[in-house]
Amino acid sequence: MKNHIQSVLHQLEQKTQKRMLKNVSSSDGAWIVMNGRKMLNLASNNYLGLANDERLIKAGCQAMRTYGAGATASRLIVGNYELYTRAEEALKKWKKAEAALIFNSGYTANLGIIASLIGRDDIVFSDWLNHASIIDGIRLSKAERYRYRHNDLDHLESLLKQASPHKRKLIVTDSIFSMDGDIAQLEGLVTLKKRYNAILMVDEAHSSGIYGKRGEGLVHHFHLQDEVDIQMGTFSKALGCFGAYVTGEQWLIDYLMNTMRSFIFTTALPPAVLGAIEKSIEIVQQEHARRQTLQVHSHYFRDELQKLGFDIGKSTTHIVPIIIGSNEQTVQMSERLQEHGIAAVAIRPPTVPEGTSRIRFSLSSSLTKEELDWALERIAEVGREMGLIAS
Ligand SMILES: *Cc1c(COP(=O)(O)O)cnc(C)c1O
Repeated sequence: MKNHIQSVLHQLEQKTQKRMLKNVSSSDGAWIVMNGRKMLNLASNNYLGLANDERLIKAGCQAMRTYGAGATASRLIVGNYELYTRAEEALKKWKKAEAALIFNSGYTANLGIIASLIGRDDIVFSDWLNHASIIDGIRLSKAERYRYRHNDLDHLESLLKQASPHKRKLIVTDSIFSMDGDIAQLEGLVTLKKRYNAILMVDEAHSSGIYGKRGEGLVHHFHLQDEVDIQMGTFSKALGCFGAYVTGEQWLIDYLMNTMRSFIFTTALPPAVLGAIEKSIEIVQQEHARRQTLQVHSHYFRDELQKLGFDIGKSTTHIVPIIIGSNEQTVQMSERLQEHGIAAVAIRPPTVPEGTSRIRFSLSSSLTKEELDWALERIAEVGREMGLIAS
């Protein structure tokens, strides 16, 4: 066993695919101290800068004082503190949903929702670039599965056409794709789900808080909230906390509460987290300026990278990759950027397909225009040194 594992690790190292943890000693939103070096943070999912917001910290501390450090049990036993009721009420109002349920993390939410909704006799259709937690939920479900080419609705339709009309069908997609920063064709997906009598689940992990009039997400941005059956999202990214949610009709929530193993068999969230979540739901609906700043930054950053000659793929959001290809060059670029004071991470297989390794930048409204310009100058310098762009 040990020999085998050591050889697997060695192979990863040879392919420049072995991962290592970095030590973060401080973070104030825009800046981070990592492995002892201060860097501009272009790698976190703290899109609206809320993770360090004093109001969230205060609400979290208060909840912890009142209810303790841990929840002491699962929600269905004695862990369902009134904090949950309050946060779920706020969530329902925000999303204008009939029912809502909060989970421990986006990963366990997707795993459990999908595995509880579909089984051996059902069929699932999933975008090629969906998040790993969706893929793992599908694996666990044992349903018949089809992956359609990324954002290719013709391909999806041809698969739907071939499927038995008598089987239950689920279509599932990210709303913003985590490693490419492009957007799902939600309107087209709604058309297809109606035409083929499927249900549609949308993962708003990267769009919650950012799109929609009050940050409800991309589903609301496109006015599809009454058409999408299952809206899932997280509190761990733009909302700056931790945990995840699903909104939908009451039958869905009742069913999940009764069958979803990753909901039933795990301890409830710590009170501090729930206190912060409630505050974050309140703030995110009101503070539009954060969303606007993020949009302006994203637009500017994408434009400038393209002008410099970098390949940013199909990004139209605050997630902006520079697609490089080889693992070695990608790791080299991220190391050089870090030496220049920019926290930017190399994303390699299996997170992305072979030959598409990339630097994945994620922006935050807590950055200033000056900081972005400073970063762009350094990114250009490293790109030229490495021959990725013309000098
Ligand atoms: C981050 C992410 C998740 C997982 O959420 P966590 O709360 O970090 O576990 C799920 N889906 C997508 C699309 C994500 O980007």
